[in-house]
Formats: sequence, C-alpha cells, structure tokens
Amino acid sequence: MAIWLKRGATTEAKAATDRSVRDTVEGILADIEARGDAAIRELSVKFDKWDRDDYRLSPAEVQACIDQLTGQDLKDIEFAQTQVRNFAQIQRASMTDVEVETLPGVVLGHKHLPLNAAGCYVPGGKYPLLASAHMSVITAKVAGVPRVVTCAPPFQGKPAPAIVAAQHMAGADEIWCLGGIQAVGAMAIGTASMAPVDILVGPGNAFVAEAKRQLFGRVGIDLFAGPTETLVIADEIGADGELCATDLLGQAEHGPDSPAILLTTSRKLAEDTMREVERLLLILPTADIARRAWESFGEVIVAADDAEMVRIADEIASEHVQVMTRDPDYFLEHMTNYGALFLGNRTNVSYGDKVIGTNHTLPTKKAARYTGGLWVGKFIKTCTYQRVLTDEASTMIGEYCSRLCALEGFAGHGEQANIRVRRYGGRNVPY
Ligand code: NAD
Repeated sequence: MAIWLKRGATTEAKAATDRSVRDTVEGILADIEARGDAAIRELSVKFDKWDRDDYRLSPAEVQACIDQLTGQDLKDIEFAQTQVRNFAQIQRASMTDVEVETLPGVVLGHKHLPLNAAGCYVPGGKYPLLASAHMSVITAKVAGVPRVVTCAPPFQGKPAPAIVAAQHMAGADEIWCLGGIQAVGAMAIGTASMAPVDILVGPGNAFVAEAKRQLFGRVGIDLFAGPTETLVIADEIGADGELCATDLLGQAEHGPDSPAILLTTSRKLAEDTMREVERLLLILPTADIARRAWESFGEVIVAADDAEMVRIADEIASEHVQVMTRDPDYFLEHMTNYGALFLGNRTNVSYGDKVIGTNHTLPTKKAARYTGGLWVGKFIKTCTYQRVLTDEASTMIGEYCSRLCALEGFAGHGEQANIRVRRYGGRNVPY
C-alpha cells in the first residue's frame, strides 16, 4: 500500500484556478470575435506591453533575428531540427494509404489528407521556448500542410531571436510576434490581417491551453498541452537522490503550476531526493519558480513494488514519465497512460524537450488517458472512400442494407438500396 511522504495541492485548489482562467479566456475570445485586430492590439499592449500596427514579422525582421545568433547557435538549432524532422518523416512513412477488396466487387479505402492551414503556438512568456517551433512547424510541414502560421510572444519587449530563427528554419510560412490568448484567438477566429487556420497546435501556459480548449470545434486542436508535468519513477538500482532531484526540478522550473512527482519503492531514495531538492533549490538559478512549483504541486510517493507503481502512474497519467529503475522496460510493457516515456537513467526529459527527435508537445491534466503527443498524424485527416465494381456486389450489399434500413425505420435510406437491387439485380428485395 503506497504512502505519500509529500502531497501536492488539493483538487479543489486546482479547480478554483481553472475556473478563473476559464472566465478570463471566455471574455477575451468574445472580444477578439467582436473587434478583431483592434482587440488583438489592445490585448498585446495590456499583457505583453507590445504595440505595433502589424504583428506579422517582415522578412527583414526575421533576418535581423537570425543575424543576432552565433554560428554555433544556428548549428545547434539545425541539429535539433534534423532529429525532429527525421523522426517525423519516419512516422509519416508509417501512415500508409489503404485500398482493399473486402468482399468480391466491394472496394474500400482510406487516404491521408494534410490539413490546409495550421497555427503553431510557440510559448515564450517565461523562457523563449524555441524547441516548440521545431516540434510544431516541422511536424506540420512533414505532414504536408501548405500554410503554416506560427505565433510566439515578445520576450523582454521584442521578438525572441532564437524563436524567430527556429520558426523560420523549420519552414514557417507566416511568423507573427503575438502571445497568449490573443495569438491563438487570432489564428482560430481570423482577423482582417490574419486568415484563420484549420487547426491550433503547440503548448502554452494555462491561458493558452484553455483558449485552445474553448476554440475546439471552430478549429481542430492537437491536444490539451498545458503546464508541464513530470513523474519520476525510480529505485535505488536505477537512480540516486541527486539524479531524481535534478530531474524533478528540471521540469518544475517550467512554471509555478508545474507538478513534479517522485514515485519510488525505496523510502531511503525518497528521503534522499527530498533532501537533494532542498540543496539544489539553494543553487538553481531558476529556483524561484521551481520552489513554488515544488512546494505547491510536488509529491513524493513510496509504493510497495513495480506493479503498484504502474497502477499509480497510470492513475496520474503524467505528461512526462522518467523511469530509472532496475528494469525500465517493465514500465514500457505495462503502463498505458503517459505522454512520453524516458527509459533508463542515460536519457531524460530535457533530451526529449530540446533535441533527441521525439515531439515535446505532450498531453497534460490527464489527457494522456485518451491521446498521445503531437505528431504528423495530428495534421492529417484519414478520409475513407468506396467503390462497388459489379452489379452482383451492389445487389448483395443492397439487400442487406434495405433490411437494416427497415429495422431503423429509414424509408428513404431503404429506397436508395432498393432502387439498386431492382436495377442491378432485376428483382425486389426479399424480406
Ligand atoms: P506562454 O507563451 O504560454 O504564455 C505567455 C502569454 O500569456 C503572454 O504572451 C500573455 O499574453 C499571456 N498571459 C500572461 N498572463 C496573462 C493573464 N493574466 N491573462 C491573460 N493572458 C495572460 O508562455 P509561459 O507563460 O512561459 O508558459 C509556457 C508554458 O508552456 C509553461 O506552462 C510550460 O510548462 C508549458 N509547456 C508545455 C508543454 C507541453 O507539451 N505540455 C511543452 C512545453 C511547455
């Protein structure tokens, strides 16, 4: 039976925050709907102190950002983008079109069709998260989306050079310097200056994630990718307190609302980790944010065995799950709810976030129960088609269809079948 050495904020406290974010987002989206570009500008001034006539960056502005980076910066971005592109291309190749004869004379198929326009949000309020540009823009382009729009907020009063360079190098068609609700609202609703997109993707803070949720239906969304979460599953064979604490704080620094949880079978490792967290919080440059996250949402759980850790981890359904145990593959085999798994102590969430090639836009708030992370498939519609090749096949299917329509009381549907049975089979449907 598991015991909690440290608990996070209660469900009620989380729900109260969610409600206030929901109300703010609702009001702002209604304003964007009513006043378009004028609202976008006011919101950008209000939340980001960023005032322009036109929030789309010109080619000269994009080049000016690229020129501020060093040759090494550009090579590093290129390396990361190559890894993300390679894996996305492999995933795209695994999505094959299908056409089969399922019964004599009956042909069914599906085709994969890329969406026409995608809006990729790149977060940048607290840190210029350029990696999100690789994750969304490259993936959309590999999927074959012809128009990829990308937005990121200004960072310290101006476009973040590294984000803009990454957006451009990833192949974005339109680069806008806009943040938060006004960015996703403009992309989904459209304004006089921005044509709307068909899908919104990318991570963001609670406001961005909630705005995407409210806009779903009007546009597609990739998934609920809100404030980062991490779960470290460890035992004394796979890890020590310093490694666990480093991996917990490495994700807690994302924001004061980022849960970081240790799940272990070792009480000693749990206590060592809690001590190490306190030590590292004295020296980590981002300790201010990480401490607030750890104090509010950090948890330490001691479980009886690996099977109980799987059960608890599936219940938590964390965005990131780092496994540092004697047998990490046990968790790959048995876990069912996670955004991404990081198996063994040689890898970690930061590799996945920044460079290794798997996508870092991942489900949060238990969305891992019903979706994986962003990938090419999110930008592609799987659309079916069918043909009936012979009179005999049409007559055979038509007789079944006619009787099934009668069971549902659908006379018009039934007649669509009956007319074909009469024409192609030369007889009435036998009931
Ligand atoms: P952000 O770009 O998501 O948000 C910044 C914007 O929020 C600002 O431009 C501003 O317009 C808006 N904003 C701020 N305060 C507001 C308020 N009170 N009302 C309305 N709008 C407001 O950047 P961020 O804040 O640094 O957050 C990035 C988030 O992305 C973090 O929470 C991080 O954990 C998350 N993230 C998630 C994933 C994932 O895959 N789930 C991946 C990477 C990052």
